[in-house]
Amino acid sequence: MRRLIHGVLLAAAVLAIGLGRILAQSAPAGGGGLETLRVQRNVYAVFGAGGNVTVQVGDEGVLVVDSGLAASAGALLAEIRKLSNRPIRFLINTHFHPDHVGGNVAFSSAPVDPRPDFAANAAAAADPLQPLNIIAHEHVLNRMTAALAPLAAGQTGGSERLRGMPIDEYFVPSKDMHFNGEAIILYHDANAHTDGDSMILFRGSDVVSAGDVFTPGSYPFIDVANGGSVSGEIAALNHLLQLAVPAHTQEGGTYIVPGHGRLSDEADVVEFRDMIVIVRDRVQDMIRKKMTLDQIKAARPTRDYDPQYVTPASFVKADQFVESVYKGLTTGTAAAAAPAPKAPAGKRQGR
Ligand SMILES: [Zn+2]
Repeated sequence: MRRLIHGVLLAAAVLAIGLGRILAQSAPAGGGGLETLRVQRNVYAVFGAGGNVTVQVGDEGVLVVDSGLAASAGALLAEIRKLSNRPIRFLINTHFHPDHVGGNVAFSSAPVDPRPDFAANAAAAADPLQPLNIIAHEHVLNRMTAALAPLAAGQTGGSERLRGMPIDEYFVPSKDMHFNGEAIILYHDANAHTDGDSMILFRGSDVVSAGDVFTPGSYPFIDVANGGSVSGEIAALNHLLQLAVPAHTQEGGTYIVPGHGRLSDEADVVEFRDMIVIVRDRVQDMIRKKMTLDQIKAARPTRDYDPQYVTPASFVKADQFVESVYKGLTTGTAAAAAPAPKAPAGKRQGR
């Protein structure tokens, strides 16, 4: 058992190293503390644990979207406990990057019920697949599984190896569920930030958890190596705009929790989408003029946006953004450029 746990930890470390640069975007806000805002109705957002975390609470328990960095998991769990002492029943991962799934193992190891004398705690903690139901698009599971260290000679798999994995994966365009008195709908937006992005609509609370498809104040990180593409990114943002309904004042209405950055409304998404469309069009125009990638970078097609979207701490620099747009426009479909790993054997779940 210890070897298996070690294998999982090693795999987590490999994943963290392989994607270590993603962590640079995840510095906790304000002295390392977490900040929680009530978004609307029974939905909250927690900032500073890596990627932003969305929390829905109610009589049936707690549902969490994304689990932040592994190093922040303890603080994040404590922060969620301030909102509710009900069991954490569901964890949805918007995608596989370690600043969004890093806390999965800690969440699946946490006591089902915060009351220390709760009888089912010991049994639940001993079973890595219960009681927390981790949900994600199947490409998230495939990429996380592919990153696991290979089994050593004589080592068997087993469920402990899968602790923290999204065992309730879906592979269709959307999946719906009902929890705490409201409909919750997961939408898979293909080949946008990655090939496994989910946006989650809390229909009663009128909140969308958008993941890294939307990062106001920063250029989008289009992870071309993992199936992202500028065309999918724009399509996902247009989809997000369809889901969002502004209030008549243009402020308020649907609130959007982005993957990183501040709580937003529809107008913020419009501004972000328009910026990407304009940069995409400029790069496309330069490609038609037979300019090379280096020439296009030198022409600085993002120049007028850089003051708004780039700071010294920015994860995505202007050149990287331009390069990801260029690659998306010149290398055919993102799916062909970066096929998802093969699905592991086993039954498919999801709707
Ligand atoms: Zn990401």
